[in-house]
Amino acid sequence: MLNIEERFLRYCQIDTQADDNSITAPSSAKQWDLLNLLKGELDELAIPLYLSLDGILYAHLASNSKIKTDKIGFVAHVDTALEASGKNVQPQLIRNYQGEDIALGTSGKALQQKDFPLLKRVIGEDIITTNGNTLLGADDKAGIAIIIELITHLINHPEIVHGDLYFAFTSDEEIGRGVDHFDFAHFPADFAYTIDGGDIAAVNYENFNAASAIVSFTGRAIHPGSAKGRLINASRLAMEFDSYLPSAELPELTDDYQGFHHLVAMEGAVEKALSHYIIRNHDQAIFARMKQDFLIAEQKMNTLYQQVVVSVELKDTYYNMGPLFSHDRRALKLVEEAFKQNEQELIYLPIRGGTDGARLAFNGLLTPNLGTGGYYAHGPYEFVSLTQMQKMVQILLCLVTLSSAQK
Ligand SMILES: [Zn+2]
Repeated sequence: MLNIEERFLRYCQIDTQADDNSITAPSSAKQWDLLNLLKGELDELAIPLYLSLDGILYAHLASNSKIKTDKIGFVAHVDTALEASGKNVQPQLIRNYQGEDIALGTSGKALQQKDFPLLKRVIGEDIITTNGNTLLGADDKAGIAIIIELITHLINHPEIVHGDLYFAFTSDEEIGRGVDHFDFAHFPADFAYTIDGGDIAAVNYENFNAASAIVSFTGRAIHPGSAKGRLINASRLAMEFDSYLPSAELPELTDDYQGFHHLVAMEGAVEKALSHYIIRNHDQAIFARMKQDFLIAEQKMNTLYQQVVVSVELKDTYYNMGPLFSHDRRALKLVEEAFKQNEQELIYLPIRGGTDGARLAFNGLLTPNLGTGGYYAHGPYEFVSLTQMQKMVQILLCLVTLSSAQK
């Protein structure tokens, strides 16, 4: 029987990078390599499985409790991010890390505390890094290893009482398609957790509200030699428009619960220009105000120029699941109690982005996010704490036990 360390090392050496140019599900055929391996591992444990044609592996561990308990789900994703290669991952294991600089293989790169201050969080722990040439893929293979370890432990210890537990291993999370094909019929949980975060002290149940704004500008091109009083330069309109937006609400100037508008792309000439913004805020009312700012700037310029020079197209992309938890805090209460019993510090951290859990939550399945002990994901400096992965397994075992003891 493999332990969690062996499992993780095995999973992270399988290339499962997503492909955002593909329209298939999963987006890359190589994601099947890990899905099929997991299917084989779970088959050996004789647990009921369903591997869907679009690349989601579902498993169900039936209740062995005499009382009716909440049905709990756990979700992790098999794919890895696009920012760095996931091919030929060669992990390095460092036992009892003492804060020293870590050379990443022979790549010439190094993990140093001055650049990667979170290394401080893992002193005294066993950690796994890359060799500097690829990402590690702890995002989210650490989550997968934690869940498989949890299942294995529960099956090997039938004396541990638990309710119905559901597991899903999704594909294409990194390209925003993780739950596009999610089938709730195979996952009838009362609430769930994505195991897809960073430091295990951090628990996330709030994410951004998100919108995009496409702003088009129409100028009037005239030969510059005879342009006085008549030329309107669309590129300059785009700059003027930006100057009317709140200048302190930028990603480079904000953190925690502060939202931002962010000019992600622009193109322009004299006749036409186009700016693409994203808008983010945790608070629904401020989010609405920030979108309104775009419409106010649009109106202001169209009035000023006495013609339609600006046109704003706003579109919501996703919403903060945080407010949904005010009706049902079961998932959070259970986490709080399991952390307390394991003497694990707990910090609720708002996510400055979206999660698959948020999309599940708006389909009725409240899904906070728990950490895996992974840090600096999506690049060659990614590392994971094996010690924290092991601790998270203990916390989840405690959580399922607590759930079946309640009521
Ligand atoms: Zn992830």
